[in-house]
Amino acid sequence: MKFDVITLFPEMIEQACSHSILSRAAERGIISVNTINPRNYTHDKHKKVDDTPFGGGAGMVLMCQPYFDAFDSIEKDENTEIILLSPQGKPFSQTLSKELSEKQHIILLCGHYEGFDERIKIYTKAKEVSIGDFVLTGGELPALCLIDSISRNIEGCLGKIDSAHFDSFSDGLLEYPQYTKPRDYKNFKVPEILLSGNHAQIAKWRRKQQFLITLRKRPDLFEKFKENCTNKEDLKLLNEVLFEDLN
Ligand code: SAM
Repeated sequence: MKFDVITLFPEMIEQACSHSILSRAAERGIISVNTINPRNYTHDKHKKVDDTPFGGGAGMVLMCQPYFDAFDSIEKDENTEIILLSPQGKPFSQTLSKELSEKQHIILLCGHYEGFDERIKIYTKAKEVSIGDFVLTGGELPALCLIDSISRNIEGCLGKIDSAHFDSFSDGLLEYPQYTKPRDYKNFKVPEILLSGNHAQIAKWRRKQQFLITLRKRPDLFEKFKENCTNKEDLKLLNEVLFEDLN
């Protein structure tokens, strides 16, 4: 997977990608993260990338020319996915992350200041993606959220791909609780079942915990899962959870 990030602050992207799992994935050639700075495509001596908005108003708007040229400098093919980070975009989710992890090339356009001249969105034919209903100062943190999340869904990026399979949201539910050594810390004990060695019972307990946790923390997700659930074992456990919740 190749990520090309158009940004006025390349160090933010480069720094964040130079640690831990992302940096190891890059060393192993599973991902590559490249930055393109529109400031390097300006034609004036001040390297101007923004200007005041037509019609008046506060703030500065990112200008077409440096962004068009930075975008044109990137080699693309019919499989290139073009994403513009924007609070007005489609909400990012685990489902979208998994879909994007199947691509081979993603271009991410980061805005700053008041945002983009609207013609940049039209020219690049980008899909707008948002990381939530709040406004950040720039698109770099959202771009990093996408790079991080998409990368962990690419086979071979994590030590064991299994660790992504059971992540929250992977099958529409939140993850079960996890524990590690010691068994007893200041009288806070690990649930006995996890020490039993009975793998079938452990799997059943974990599944039930997923239902319970999702019901309590994200009833919206629980309802959706319940409506679409056809697996007999799951339906039995769901009924147990709902019964316990009522009593
Ligand atoms: N004036 C814009 C508006 O109200 O829609 C907001 C501009 S924001 C200050 C600057 C840049 O940060 C945006 O162009 C976008 O790239 C990025 N950004 C801010 N919040 C975001 C969010 N929730 N999701 C994705 N990108 C965001």
